[in-house]
Amino acid sequence: MDRLLSAQPVDDDLQSELSLRPKRLIEYIGQQKVKANLEISIAAARKRGEALDHVLLFGPPGLGKTTLANILANEMDAAIRTTSGPALERTGDLVAIVTNLQPGEMLFIDEIHRLPPQVEEVLYSAMEDFHVDIIIGQGPAARTMKFELPKFTLVGATTRAGLLTAPLRARFGIVHRLDFYDFDALTIIVRRSAEILNIPVDKDAAVEIARRSRGTPRIANRLLRRVRDYAEVKHQGAVTLDIAREALKMLEVDEYGLDEIDRKLLAAVIERFNGGPVGVNALASSIAEDRGTIEDLYEPFLIQIGFLQRTPRGRVASKLAYDHLGYSNRAGFDSRKLF
Ligand code: ADP
Repeated sequence: MDRLLSAQPVDDDLQSELSLRPKRLIEYIGQQKVKANLEISIAAARKRGEALDHVLLFGPPGLGKTTLANILANEMDAAIRTTSGPALERTGDLVAIVTNLQPGEMLFIDEIHRLPPQVEEVLYSAMEDFHVDIIIGQGPAARTMKFELPKFTLVGATTRAGLLTAPLRARFGIVHRLDFYDFDALTIIVRRSAEILNIPVDKDAAVEIARRSRGTPRIANRLLRRVRDYAEVKHQGAVTLDIAREALKMLEVDEYGLDEIDRKLLAAVIERFNGGPVGVNALASSIAEDRGTIEDLYEPFLIQIGFLQRTPRGRVASKLAYDHLGYSNRAGFDSRKLF
């Protein structure tokens, strides 16, 4: 069963990501509405001495879903087991986990939209009535045995709630969407991480890193570590605004936080598809990227900052995107004609 539960990370960045994870709700920065709602759910469940209702967290990668799942367990003084949709290949995989849960324990399933349908089916009764049906034997002699489960809390995370089936979604009592973080919250996150990792960072350098982090704490922490590397190798180690800018330039992260692939994607919409509308499949194959990666990782932020619009006929690049990539300044090219 250990195969199904997540292994310990070995990578340096992953190790430091773990050390940067806030452990309590009070340390979790931003997402005020979600936090306020969860505080009430936690207090109410604790007061009743019950397990927390099942929780569904959705939002783009790196916004803090896993962190929040672990915080929920800490706040409820509950143990948590972690697995993911793709890891649960067979119904037996899930049955093995849920039948070993203790009362009040939490089960975190990351990428829950990727559960195979037959495994998802088992989850329905586990979540709703706290039992699973196990088939024993084969052929005509096969019997179904009902196995009672303790009251546990399922925490599901998904990058796109739209991919969840309606019956699964309906079984979550608490559903929250995490939004991109604003610059202030990200600045606090960068400064907090710098303190934990012992990196001397000037206030305005922290703001600069925050501004270029695509509203995403995981990216903020990653940029901080890369900027630190640069400061240590090229300078004396302290991160000033100038050093942060030099490092970010070398990393090809522009002032909106866009990286090479974001720019490639926008340039493809503009150059190959006349600014759109273009379907995501055509776009994905034109830049040789996976469709899911575009939809999960790149598109949400480009839409959020108004560079890309999603229309019923496909994706359309906005004037902002033309201006940012410098198309408006090209000789003979007038982006205004396109709008
Ligand atoms: P997700 O599960 O949504 O992909 P994670 O929970 O793994 O995201 O978060 C990525 C990293 O970002 C974490 O290691 C944590 O350090 C940081 N992080 C996320 N949310 C917050 C927050 N609200 N406050 C501080 N750090 C955060």
